Amino acid sequence: MLDPLPSYLRPSNDAGPWGVYMQQIDRVTPYLGELTYWVDTLKRPKRVLIVDVPVKMDDGTVAHFEGYRVHHNTSRGPGKGGIRFHQDVTLSEVMALAGWMTVKNAAVGVPYGGAKGGIRVDPRTLSHGELERLTRRYTSELNVLIGPDKDIPAPDVNTNEQIMAWMMDTYSINQGRTATGVVTGKPLSLGGSLGRRDATGRGVFVVGAAAAKDAGIALDGARVAIQGFGNVGGTAARCFHEAGARVVAVQDVSGTLFHPGGLNVPALLAWVAAGRPLAEFRDGERIPDDSFWDVQSDFLVPSALEQQITLHNAPRIRTRIVLEGANGPTTPEADDILAARGIQVVPDVLANAGGVTVSYFEWVQDFSSFFWSEEEINARLDRIMEEAYVPIRDTARSRQVSLRTAAFILACERILKAREMRGLYP
Ligand code: NAD
Repeated sequence: MLDPLPSYLRPSNDAGPWGVYMQQIDRVTPYLGELTYWVDTLKRPKRVLIVDVPVKMDDGTVAHFEGYRVHHNTSRGPGKGGIRFHQDVTLSEVMALAGWMTVKNAAVGVPYGGAKGGIRVDPRTLSHGELERLTRRYTSELNVLIGPDKDIPAPDVNTNEQIMAWMMDTYSINQGRTATGVVTGKPLSLGGSLGRRDATGRGVFVVGAAAAKDAGIALDGARVAIQGFGNVGGTAARCFHEAGARVVAVQDVSGTLFHPGGLNVPALLAWVAAGRPLAEFRDGERIPDDSFWDVQSDFLVPSALEQQITLHNAPRIRTRIVLEGANGPTTPEADDILAARGIQVVPDVLANAGGVTVSYFEWVQDFSSFFWSEEEINARLDRIMEEAYVPIRDTARSRQVSLRTAAFILACERILKAREMRGLYP
């Protein structure tokens, strides 16, 4: 008789992202054959660290922030996954994001386990100095878990190259040596990789193009609606625009823009890069945020946060392909509704794996202190994404399952075979 799951891990107690992740594992389980014996491994994180992060604020007071780092599974290699700074970060969310990293890394075949971290903070309320002190203290608290051969963080929502540089510096000072390989997504001047900044959005586009080809959708003139216009959504918009597609709607925290003829994406990227609110861009009509889900498109690319496509808006969505740039944007109930309506969902664990793939290249380059050209990086990235897509598509067809379940089947087989071969200690 197995021990019951601790209460905080039970999906019935969790309407948040961890509950979604657990339902996805339940959905793949019937397809795992004898490996089902090991599946409970995926239903709990290997280790969870919750840290208090005290920060001296500019006004002299001390504020306390709650930080997390979760190692979900390390059967196939060291932990790998981003760091999120957001006011709504919870343990449930970080555990789910770590679980999806385990699956994603196996789905595209990079030699990592899954990890994720975050701090419950709205970084927009902090000064530059407060943000740096927060990042450094958090990194120091994570010292017991992270390391180039143990766990390698990267950027996620509201974190960037500067934050990775502070993390790398703090870890290096604590270790007494410069350890560039402890984080990826670093600036080029500190062992970062060419192509990393655009890698996730580029990968989203490459997989989207492959799925479009199978669905008989021409990219030229295709309509694309994108939620989130940051690292992932912004780059995906640029790639679709360059391929001749029309970006007909975009949404970020500031609001929603609609333009049936296609927004001027380069101008919008420059506008947002200059720190101006997306919704105040003059080219395009401002529409209510909820109307974003009614926009007719060929690709809908959620690239913001989890649980955006749900039971409530899935029946209204008018698109042909949902291309998941974000992690966990579609709930299992919404998956079923979209499938019944003939809308293909290209799952996060495949679609947004370009970031971790080029993070892997960055880590390899740091170890060898030998850096590759951008052409070489992009060519390898495109090849890995395309080669990951084909067996997932073929599995979906042969086993008559969704692309998500197919991706989970292939990934979970790899993870659980590694688990089985390693055996249990003692
Ligand atoms: P980012 O911080 O660069 O951008 C986030 C974007 O989402 C911003 O435009 C923001 O305004 C928007 N947004 C936030 N909350 C929103 C809301 N409630 N409604 C509408 N828009 C909202 O973050 P990012 O790195 O682009 O990450 C976006 C998603 O992609 C996340 O789910 C992340 O986990 C996932 N992801 C990121 C990477 C990466 O390499 N950065 C890799 C894989 C997956």
